Amino acid sequence: MAPRDYDSEKEKAKRFFQEFYRDGADGHKEFPYREQLTLLARREQVALWVALDDVAEDDPELAEAVVENVRRYSRVFSDAVHELLPLFGSAEAHPRDPLDVYLEHRLLLEQRGRAAGAPRTPQNQFPPELLRRFELYFRAPSCSKPLSPRDLRAGSVGSLVTVEGIVTRAGEVRPLLRVATYSCDQCGAETYQPIEGPTFTPLLLCPSRECQTNRSGGRLYLQSRGSKFTRFQELRIQEHSEQVPVGHLPRSLPLHLSGANTRQAQPGDHVRVTGAFLPLLRAGYAQVAQGLLSETFLEAHHLAKVSKSEDEEGEAELSPQELQEITAGREFGEKKRLFGKNG
Ligand SMILES: [Zn+2]
Repeated sequence: MAPRDYDSEKEKAKRFFQEFYRDGADGHKEFPYREQLTLLARREQVALWVALDDVAEDDPELAEAVVENVRRYSRVFSDAVHELLPLFGSAEAHPRDPLDVYLEHRLLLEQRGRAAGAPRTPQNQFPPELLRRFELYFRAPSCSKPLSPRDLRAGSVGSLVTVEGIVTRAGEVRPLLRVATYSCDQCGAETYQPIEGPTFTPLLLCPSRECQTNRSGGRLYLQSRGSKFTRFQELRIQEHSEQVPVGHLPRSLPLHLSGANTRQAQPGDHVRVTGAFLPLLRAGYAQVAQGLLSETFLEAHHLAKVSKSEDEEGEAELSPQELQEITAGREFGEKKRLFGKNG
């Protein structure tokens, strides 16, 4: 497969957000993503769920690429939103929080520094994750069949999958560091470390040009005020008892949920979760290559509770109203039925 040009993929995502529309009830075009970008820009909404059915309507190849490499495309779509947001308003009316105050102060210093011609190393630049306040998640295409934890295969690592099961354990919701901000005890420079998983190795030595040139051995200290945290929760789901072959133990799968996806389910709930199927450790890829899939988890994008009755019906017949909604081209009602309500 040819390497992808992610900048052009980002332009496709931007076009999708701006141009996707549905025919409204009164004959007017409705632009659901433009509306949500406005709410994100004003900080009246935090989480944006991108329905891959919508993406596929515009660009089936792009939707497929998201499913195959969901983490990379989360960044591509987040970058697209980040670049579009200034066109959709600002958060002027919104009260500023300590991170806003911190960023304003630093941006001011940065502008002064630029004016004075001070060079900046990559670690000294604000990582985009620090500036972003929105969360972006994908919803699986409605044609994708929910799997049991038992059905997950090595070939699915990295892709967007939908899994069903019963919640057997729910961890506490706790703050998770997303961007660690350090300051140096020698030169005062700040260093930023974006963090992708629940664990990380703290940086210790100052990478600034000043400290490197002078070999002054500046040490870094974590600053919680300039760092960014999100809510984080771990759940474990287990396959339904009827899916366990005779003589086998039930399989389970850890889920990592963050932000708007936390606090959505409790032990005993039947859930349908869409997310990125990932190896738990860095060394995980080696394990996967050997066919060992014990250390995997699902990074959740969307979680819906499934009622037991709906579960027993399985993919039951559609009600006359649902049929009408589909034949009328109002897919939205159908998606709601499949995935439950947002957050
Ligand atoms: Zn330093």
